[in-house]
Amino acid sequence: MKRSYLATVVLVLSFGASALASSAGPAIPADEAMNLLKEGNARYAAGQSTHPNLGSDRRAETVKNGQHPFATIIGCSDSREPLEHIFDQGVGDIFVIRVAGNVAGPDELASIEYGVGHLNTPVMLVLGHTSCGAVTAAVQNAKVHGNLPFLINQIKPAVAKARSWNPTASGDDLVATSIKANVYLTMENMFRKSSEVRELVKKGKLLVVGGIYDLHSGQVKWLGAHPDQGKLLVAAVKPHAPAKPKHAPAPAAAEPAASAKAEAADQGSMIDPAPAAHSAPAPAPAAHPAPAAPAHQ
Ligand SMILES: [Zn+2]
Repeated sequence: MKRSYLATVVLVLSFGASALASSAGPAIPADEAMNLLKEGNARYAAGQSTHPNLGSDRRAETVKNGQHPFATIIGCSDSREPLEHIFDQGVGDIFVIRVAGNVAGPDELASIEYGVGHLNTPVMLVLGHTSCGAVTAAVQNAKVHGNLPFLINQIKPAVAKARSWNPTASGDDLVATSIKANVYLTMENMFRKSSEVRELVKKGKLLVVGGIYDLHSGQVKWLGAHPDQGKLLVAAVKPHAPAKPKHAPAPAAAEPAASAKAEAADQGSMIDPAPAAHSAPAPAPAAHPAPAAPAHQ
């Protein structure tokens, strides 16, 4: 299967051959990993960062032995929320996914699964931040350009949730409440759409927590586990969208507009306007195709 082989090559290029080969368990338990994050953030907020693991020796060691990060973190792309800095961590310490509005679409979920399922980080943190522009755009129903509507639409269910929590909130209050709701929404999407995340949590191998980073103080306000985690771990879940049919010959270079449209359609399909409303059991997912071996010439 040429495609699978290509995917393998891409993974190797992206994450490093040694990392791909490595799936050693977490070196530390979740509570220790949480302490590393909390202590690092306290140092950063107090202006006492130690900037660990940034030297050539650390680079050499992580190339030789692969990466063994202790936390997977999804945070906003906002340039004021630089994740390694705000937790005072260095090379190989945290597996980071950054996307505007810290939303969890298919690509982000796949990256999360790589971090928690392959690299075995004991902690998964969803981190929002104060004054988030992406969440503000969703609250204001702002006119946004290009591909942004697809991203902002993923945040709108969080705004609806925030309004349900506090129907009279408006302005900055509604933005702040929506930022919190959006952290919970991303956590919820992870549980609903990733059986790997659910299983790891159920087996006690993964702690999933939320937080909100304060741009002004530099401190993370910890939200803990999702309030409905217990229910989300057993909820009926829509299976992942089936892979695109592969019979059509792929053009040498994907046509950008068509590709963006297809991706947008996928993103849209991940948005469940009433995520708790599934009363019928989810249809049995088609059997996952066996992972294809790399093509033999
Ligand atoms: Zn943001």
